[in-house]
Amino acid sequence: MDYLPIFLRVEARPVVVVGGGEVALRKAQWLLKAGAQVTVVAPALHAQLARYAVNADLTHRAAAFAPQFLDGAVAVVAATDERAVNAAVSAAARARGIPVNVVDDAELSSFIFPAIIDRSPLIVAVSSAGAAPVLARSVREQIEALLPARLGALARFMGRHRQAVQRALAKSGRRAFWERIVRGPVASDVLRGQETAAAEGLRRELRASQLTTAAPARGAALGEVYLIGAGPGDPDLLTLRALQLLQQADVILYDRLVSEAVLDRARRDARRIFVGKESGERGQQERIHALLLELAGAGQRVARLKGGDPFVFGRGGEELEVLQAHGIPYIVVPGITAALGAAASSGLPLTHRRLAQSVTFVTGHDSGGAAPDWRFFANPQHTVVFYMGVAQLPAIVERLRSAGARADHPVAVIERATLPEQRLLRGTLADIAALAQAQALEPPALLIVGAVAALASSDALTALASPVVAGTAA
Ligand code: SAH
Repeated sequence: MDYLPIFLRVEARPVVVVGGGEVALRKAQWLLKAGAQVTVVAPALHAQLARYAVNADLTHRAAAFAPQFLDGAVAVVAATDERAVNAAVSAAARARGIPVNVVDDAELSSFIFPAIIDRSPLIVAVSSAGAAPVLARSVREQIEALLPARLGALARFMGRHRQAVQRALAKSGRRAFWERIVRGPVASDVLRGQETAAAEGLRRELRASQLTTAAPARGAALGEVYLIGAGPGDPDLLTLRALQLLQQADVILYDRLVSEAVLDRARRDARRIFVGKESGERGQQERIHALLLELAGAGQRVARLKGGDPFVFGRGGEELEVLQAHGIPYIVVPGITAALGAAASSGLPLTHRRLAQSVTFVTGHDSGGAAPDWRFFANPQHTVVFYMGVAQLPAIVERLRSAGARADHPVAVIERATLPEQRLLRGTLADIAALAQAQALEPPALLIVGAVAALASSDALTALASPVVAGTAA
């Protein structure tokens, strides 16, 4: 380890920045954020630094550097573009035993500024000891995406309840208590901005912990379920929240539509249970419900990962009802539904000022309920996206035709949208069924019907390098 990472308290303490340019400005801003009393030593100032000086946010010494400017400082930053000046600042600081940072010069520095992720009071600092700043920044970005925006609120919440917990629980039980809080619904509530509910939850947990002398089994009675939309397949289309919860979950229940690449983004040591429904497999949905209740009931954090969005033909609604009926805490995370993924990856706008003023997502797989309005679907100015329609393709074409759709009504079929193997078939009601058969179309695929379907193109897939099979109308 080349550097000892420490967090320095500079609040209301004097810190000197030598230099008045853009780099000095950035360092001064960090120091001001941390509450330091900043003095900038420079003959001339960057406009923004000058504004800070006018507002008395910092003090400006309009002079060339001299060692006595460092007297009393707790830290010094040299940010001039003259190495001789920077070296003089470094030498003067070291002679006085003051930590010094010389921007972009590890040799002259006794401390360096890390790349940081600020969820104050929680702060993550990343450093490559000057060896690879770009790598450090890229690591910073990855961590940034993983940490919920309201993590700071959670840290403050825990800070506020620390004393109460200290009073209520013996030292031996506190750590396990806080671990349960951090991993359970109380933390989830804070992260969602529900602090009142969180405070109630914490008090409940505290009473329960006081009643049991032995620490309860890890996580007991504190399970919860995350109903997560995994998106259409490309793991980069997961939401940040999906990613965060996938990192927390103890168990992951996933469907057939959830890609391997998405599962790769989950916590490595989480248990994975495949609960995909093969068609015709009766009772599987009930088994999933039972599994959710059993796992969450045993205190596990369960990620129920579904392709696309959980509430678009995902039976997420039914699972939610079960959780609600049993008082299991839950979080629903939306996902990019297949229609949106397929539209984006085939350059097909679902609505379009000239071509389509509305869009319907419909199941191509008849499952009772009111019959859809096929006459409305037959209007090319309306876009219809059929999910689960591969087997029904000829029947769908037939119904649209009998509802008045023309033979040249455009259709696009997108198989395995957003995945590297994505295929696009483009045609019309007259030829799409034959085309699909000739190309051995397989689920999962979407049928998009309407004038906009004629705009579908493989150009949007350049990054995915997928072959296009164009129909006659292409
Ligand atoms: N909840 C999912 C839909 C589940 S129903 C969502 O919001 O996307 C399953 C159907 O979704 C499949 O039959 C297929 O029509 C469609 N589908 C899901 N992923 C797809 C993909 N990557 N490409 C094309 N269609 C997909």
